[in-house]
Amino acid sequence: MSDCIFCKIINREIPSKPVYENDRVYAFHDINPEAPVHVLIVPKEHIASHNELTVENVGIMKDIHLAANEIAKQLGVAETGYRLINNCGTHAGQTVFHLHYHLVGGKPMGSKIL
Ligand code: C5P
Repeated sequence: MSDCIFCKIINREIPSKPVYENDRVYAFHDINPEAPVHVLIVPKEHIASHNELTVENVGIMKDIHLAANEIAKQLGVAETGYRLINNCGTHAGQTVFHLHYHLVGGKPMGSKIL
């Protein structure tokens, strides 16, 4: 999608710090990290949000979750733990409308969700 910032990052039109890539998924360090480890995992296919997942495209979730496992191991948080967060829509604070999961870790975050 031509005006999507994450599509531009995937296409290397905007720079990012890569962490992981395969033919379906790209992951990079968040530009404004909120934890010592803060990586964004995005599908290369433009899907605006979790709301747009369908029977046809939901297979990408397998790739996202397997990428998260690899990234957690690679960045040393698999054992200590991490959160995998998706913000869907305005009330959840979604600001970039290209599906993405935040992998955050590297510090204790407590047990509360909010
Ligand atoms: O879930 P939400 O849509 O709010 O998250 C978007 C994330 O994308 C933010 O954490 C922001 O820092 C990140 N971002 C980025 N690089 C950009 C633009 C946004 O890492 N060029």
